[in-house]
Amino acid sequence: MYDVVFIGDLIESPTLKSLKVDPELLLRCRGEIGDFHLTYKDGDGKVREVKTGTIVVNITAEREKPLPGVLSFEDDLPEGKEVDCLIFIQDYQTISPAIMSNRGLKMAISAAKKFPEIQVYYFYRSMRFIKDNDRLFEEARRLGILFLKYEKGNLVISAAGEVSYNREDISLRLEGKILMAPEIKPAEGLERVARILNLEMGPAGFLQVENVYLQSTLSGRRGVYILGGSRGPTAYSNLVEEAEYTLNEIGFLLQDIKPLVNDRREVDDQKCILCYTCYRICPHGAIERDEELDAMKVLNLACQGCNACISHCPASAISIVEDNNELIETGLRVLMCENSARTAWERMAGKDRFSDLKIETIPCAGSIKKEDIYHYLRNSADRLLILGCFEESCKHLSGDRKAYRIVNEVNERLKVLNLGENRVIFKRLAPRMEEDLAGLLSRWKEGNCNL
Ligand code: SF4
Ligand code: SF4
Repeated sequence: MYDVVFIGDLIESPTLKSLKVDPELLLRCRGEIGDFHLTYKDGDGKVREVKTGTIVVNITAEREKPLPGVLSFEDDLPEGKEVDCLIFIQDYQTISPAIMSNRGLKMAISAAKKFPEIQVYYFYRSMRFIKDNDRLFEEARRLGILFLKYEKGNLVISAAGEVSYNREDISLRLEGKILMAPEIKPAEGLERVARILNLEMGPAGFLQVENVYLQSTLSGRRGVYILGGSRGPTAYSNLVEEAEYTLNEIGFLLQDIKPLVNDRREVDDQKCILCYTCYRICPHGAIERDEELDAMKVLNLACQGCNACISHCPASAISIVEDNNELIETGLRVLMCENSARTAWERMAGKDRFSDLKIETIPCAGSIKKEDIYHYLRNSADRLLILGCFEESCKHLSGDRKAYRIVNEVNERLKVLNLGENRVIFKRLAPRMEEDLAGLLSRWKEGNCNL
């Protein structure tokens, strides 16, 4: 189990157990925060599956080169001073990402210092004063850099590389070395990654829309983070700070993952027609297909309670299940399959010994979902005992195997999250095993996990 899987570039952390997966080799993502299951191909082409608490998408955006013959804000400055002037142009193709204001200012300052006898011009449509840009702007002006604001149409670069600038009061024809901000485009394959991770894309094809200044690395899906390179066109990307923030947040989050809403959304698998409407519509990637039930299921740790799924489901298959916050004293709860353990319970003598246990009858141990178990643990049980049939007696065919697997997965997850070990136990019983049941309940009450 990893704390974090990086899709794209890995950022080392001394405390988090991390793995890097090549975006092109990512095949599938299931699960939710604390328990994502990722399928990918490794370097040898072998298909692997890993579990991880969180995911960070760290894919560098493409930098489209500016016009032919011009330098980019990301290139080195020219070596010699073979030109009459240096012409910086920001926002030419479109409004540049905010980080380009920072890069351009720094580069122009270096140029003014390196070639003090050459005039440096800086054309821009929109200067973003974030981080230390205001200080850089002042320094650049002190160094004699000439800033000229332009609108679309009054700055033109000819095929020969001449820059003409016309404003009501100024008209310039400049020949010199041009340095332009590159256009930042979504990385190739980003859309595919978004589809696999069930993340919404912004209109410009990045994983976030424009307002990324607050909580800049959060995605719509809980537990999935997006670092600078993969996101929107007006972003100011400060990868180091973002990475630090994200890794801290992950470390903090993994200590105690709780649902965001008190009540749960649940899909009735008998009504669900698998139309995928809810899957497409959920803004938080909180719905996925339950392969065993052949229906959708809501991932309750991911769900943010917006109810969009409920209002759009054509089969009225999704409903809100209110949490029952009534706590029982002992916190010990037993779920008994009606076909086996419940009969044994009815036959058992001396039930008074177990009057402090909260006992509930269920149609089949295999009908219990992980979400149900978490719900019980959260609201009414410190420990949970699930009693089902032996394999050959299960009227629902593989109910016992399903329960066994689900209970193991839940315990594994609780252990990883430091929420206790063996809090949920699954045992098989036959209807005539009342004496075994009595012994088993006694040992379990005493806290014996090796039933
Ligand atoms: S919208 Fe309703 S019927 Fe369609 S897949 Fe979701 S739960 Fe099932
Ligand atoms: S309530 Fe909202 S967040 Fe939760 S599963 Fe439905 S659509 Fe997704």
